[in-house]
Amino acid sequence: MSLQNLKPIEWKFSERAEQLQSSAIREILKVTMRPEVISFAGGLPSPETFPVDRMRAAFDKVLAENGKTALQYGTTDGYAPLREFIAKSLSTQDCTITADQIMMVSGSQQGLDLLAKVLVDEGSKILVETPSYLGALQAFSVYRPEFVSVEMDNDGVVPASVAAKGEGAKLFYALPNFQNPTGRTLSVERRKELVETCARMGIPLIEDNPYGDLCYSGEPLPKLLNMNPNGVIYLGSFSKILTPGIRLGYMVAPVPLIRKLEQAKQATDLHTSTLTQMAVYEVIKDGFLDQHIPSIRRFYSAQCDVMLAAMTKHFPEGVTWTRPLGGMFIWATLPKHIHSKDLLADAIANNVAFVPGGPFYANEAETNTFRLSFVTVSPEKINEGIEKIGNLIKARM
Ligand code: PMP
Repeated sequence: MSLQNLKPIEWKFSERAEQLQSSAIREILKVTMRPEVISFAGGLPSPETFPVDRMRAAFDKVLAENGKTALQYGTTDGYAPLREFIAKSLSTQDCTITADQIMMVSGSQQGLDLLAKVLVDEGSKILVETPSYLGALQAFSVYRPEFVSVEMDNDGVVPASVAAKGEGAKLFYALPNFQNPTGRTLSVERRKELVETCARMGIPLIEDNPYGDLCYSGEPLPKLLNMNPNGVIYLGSFSKILTPGIRLGYMVAPVPLIRKLEQAKQATDLHTSTLTQMAVYEVIKDGFLDQHIPSIRRFYSAQCDVMLAAMTKHFPEGVTWTRPLGGMFIWATLPKHIHSKDLLADAIANNVAFVPGGPFYANEAETNTFRLSFVTVSPEKINEGIEKIGNLIKARM
């Protein structure tokens, strides 16, 4: 029998896999890899903020002193000293979080997938913000829920809209701080109202908070988690306060749910890298983040100011945008007749890029919106890029 000329396989994907699509953003990012393009499209943190030397020293130290443990399989819930450190940092005077409520994950993105895996059936109703984080919509979509879009304004989600649309919902997916994509923040009054509304309706809240520490002034706002630890599932991440390449995040939930999530994670990847968890613990255990986070805040706040000033100078009347109190994103809204996808085509031809708003909507999209990220581009290039976009908008007015 000859092994030449074997018939190639015709791949027949599962129905679930047929739901998977490449993120619109990843496609745009391919274009923006060209060095001549000024890109406000990426959701990447600035590499200027990565504490490379500290990370290297921590990996060295862990390997030198504890190499055999660091290179061994670990438990699914994660490295205990790190979980204890996180539990302490999340606890407030009125709300104690314990290490057994925490599971480490390989990036909070994994947490979104695991949550959908253990809580969402086909047709389950999931409430999402309008717009919402594209990566969460992607993670949930695989499990074929029914997305219900909840109203938002400049103070974040409108709790009355949750009450009106939320009957029978399985989950509410919330981004209270410096939301991706809009940069909006949920006001303190609304936090209480939202937590109360969801508790009354029996809807668990997912609080996804990768940007919460990156407030430009004052202290981070109170977490939904601390307002109702029995009704909130919290997702935290080291991606925006240390580095995203280490893929380290955590989830906080009531213990019975954590046990179920642990079973799901076992099936996915057994556990998150032991070496990485030990090295990160080594980096943060003596308070490094207390100086590091303020330096990121100052840097991002200055970048944000540059972009806002450039927009005020170069964008024509009729365009509006958010003024974020933290995080990495500004959300702009064009006059209704201009599609941001068309503007993007003009922009790419002029070597500047952003992300059109469409993919961030679970249901009907507002086609005249777009997201700008201001953290990875120099102030000079921010001015140049925003001036170009402003001129392209004027040409379409
Ligand atoms: N949630 C939101 C809102 C995000 O913006 C991101 C990263 N872009 C994630 C979750 C995933 O972060 P991680 O790197 O922790 O997986």
